[in-house]
Amino acid sequence: MNPSKPDNNTKPVKAISGLGDIREKISELDDQLLHLLGQRREFSRKVAKQKQFMDKPLRDQTRERELLESLVKKASQSGLDSHYVTRLFNTIIEDSIQFQQDYVQSINNPDLKNNVGKSLAVLGGKGAYSYLAAKKYFSNSDNTYLACGSFEKVLNSVQSGKVDYGVIPIENTTSGGITEVYDLLLESNLTIIGEEKYAVKHCLIGSKGSQLKNISCIAAHPEASRQCSKHLKKLVSANISLVQSTAHALELVAKQKTPTIAAIASEEAARLFGLEVLKSNITNQTENITRFLVLARSPIKVSLSVQCKTSIALSTGQKPGSLAEVLSLFRDADIPLSKLESRPIPNKPWEQMFYIDLEGNISDKNVENTLESLSRLCLFLRVLGSYPTEDISATQVSPQSLAKAKLDTLDRQNDRPAEKQPGDQSRLSQTLQKPRKSYHLTSREHKPEDTLIEVKGTKIGGDNFTVLAGPCAVESLSQIMSCAKHANETGVAILRGGCFKPRTSPYSFQGLGFEGLDFIQQAGEKYSMPIITEVMNTEDVKAIAKQADMLQIGARNMQNFSLLKAVGQINRPVMLKRGLMASLEELLNAAEYILTQGNMQVFLCERGIRTFETATRNTLDLSAVPLLKQMTHLPIIVDPSHAVGKRELVIPMAKAAKAVGAHGLMIEFHPNPEEALSDGPQALRYAQFAELMSDLYHS
Ligand code: PEP
Ligand code: MN
Repeated sequence: MNPSKPDNNTKPVKAISGLGDIREKISELDDQLLHLLGQRREFSRKVAKQKQFMDKPLRDQTRERELLESLVKKASQSGLDSHYVTRLFNTIIEDSIQFQQDYVQSINNPDLKNNVGKSLAVLGGKGAYSYLAAKKYFSNSDNTYLACGSFEKVLNSVQSGKVDYGVIPIENTTSGGITEVYDLLLESNLTIIGEEKYAVKHCLIGSKGSQLKNISCIAAHPEASRQCSKHLKKLVSANISLVQSTAHALELVAKQKTPTIAAIASEEAARLFGLEVLKSNITNQTENITRFLVLARSPIKVSLSVQCKTSIALSTGQKPGSLAEVLSLFRDADIPLSKLESRPIPNKPWEQMFYIDLEGNISDKNVENTLESLSRLCLFLRVLGSYPTEDISATQVSPQSLAKAKLDTLDRQNDRPAEKQPGDQSRLSQTLQKPRKSYHLTSREHKPEDTLIEVKGTKIGGDNFTVLAGPCAVESLSQIMSCAKHANETGVAILRGGCFKPRTSPYSFQGLGFEGLDFIQQAGEKYSMPIITEVMNTEDVKAIAKQADMLQIGARNMQNFSLLKAVGQINRPVMLKRGLMASLEELLNAAEYILTQGNMQVFLCERGIRTFETATRNTLDLSAVPLLKQMTHLPIIVDPSHAVGKRELVIPMAKAAKAVGAHGLMIEFHPNPEEALSDGPQALRYAQFAELMSDLYHS
């Protein structure tokens, strides 16, 4: 600092009026600084406008470093120290980038951030950390808030359209990932459109006039209490009462008659509730930051010029080294990962769902190509969202350059090699991109190796020959138990049984629905067999997937696109049956609908098509098997039962299917075909089925 020399002869009175003048001058300078900062922002906006048309990243750290170095050099001439100047300008640069990002994003998504009158769902109401984080994220908005009692309610409120957005915590620097939220996120169809990092500074809050020594009970959210555990023990000997949310804790304190209850909440929350901070900063760790996600029903467009993060969820099965393969894809593509979290998959013991945050934009070709390569390695892959990142790390001026800047008066701007821009990579990969056909992920070109489907140790695809068998429909507990026993004793790998039946006539037996599903689930458990059943309604997909190991899309629904999308969003293998009048290309396009949603565990089923021939129920197109094996990496099985419709013909056609290279069969049998509630004429008798199985595996 270099203040002007004080006048030693000035009298005190004069000194005061002199001080006033100086202060006035300082205020004038501050006004000018503000004005200049405003002008600087205006230029920032112009830069953003230029850069977005060029798809150039807004962030140019080479330029930032040069700017800082030159400022540091000039600063020493004005008597300002380099640390002060670097800190000051890092703040200005950060503001500028944030401003530019917001500007570009508001142009790309006019409906989003700066809009007024949006509705938001958050955990807990006014004063809860989710509420405060949401307020920070939607800073310019006049929004309404829906206070929810659980994370699930937050997600459901967005999903159902009750509110526009949800704000939900995902991880904390003290307590780590909030695992429940990961599971809920995957179960929902919501997408991440933003993130907010909120520095959680817990305080002990009491009502007006209350004193720390009188506090006998502390109301707190479990997470908040965990984060303050050490401090609380030292501070006061009060009982901790765990409550649903921080907002609830605050309400308890606000409503109390005798001031003996305190809450753990932020200073801002205390202000909102008219309460008092009894002790500030009671968090165990000084840096206690929670990362919140902003969720919406549809994705946003993130400009390539904006710093972006993409969150994905994937599962690879239990192949040794598969995670290493996944990670090396990102390394080879030079895509940094900022997070890797794993969660167990329900009903798949010891299998993990991995959650990855990568630094990159889904619209960037390099990221897109990497995700495409990734899809070859994954059983499940879903992009949870691509959104502007909150991390605007300060550009560092190295000690060497600081020292050099002091001495070196030469402008070295032109000598420095240009840093690699993300845009360069994307253009390179763009030129390598192959033209696509109507189906892509399904094609052999995309994935030359066979897809192998695995469920509870049973495999479909590759060199395996797998038989799925059981009755057409689940008719009663005793019927499906008897079928499961027979299936198990004859070497069947997967038990089938329809619970929701697609029947031509509305007067025919429609299936036992969820009651039937309970029965077949019990049968599968008793005989340790995975089960497969048909799903007909989009709304039932999740519930059926909770009980069945595999889902079947019937021939009549092969082109029910919303149903295909819904099964594409769950992590269960799907058998897609060829439609009654569908070409192979249409079948593969239908499978593509499932794969594009993230579910790669699809196998196909040839079950006969309609021709002019009426001697058989349908015409079994066996040439489809070798043809499909050329066209796709997905396994293909044959259902001779629905193809021919007559039990005597099922046996030779089943053998023929094996001969032409099918990966397996689906066959219907029944303990008493004459009494069957559906498809009796094509159901094999127990003895016939046992003989067929023996022939299939011993010839
Ligand atoms: C079935 O397998 O139960 C069935 C109804 O078959 P498809 O959809 O092939 O007619
Ligand atoms: Mn049937």
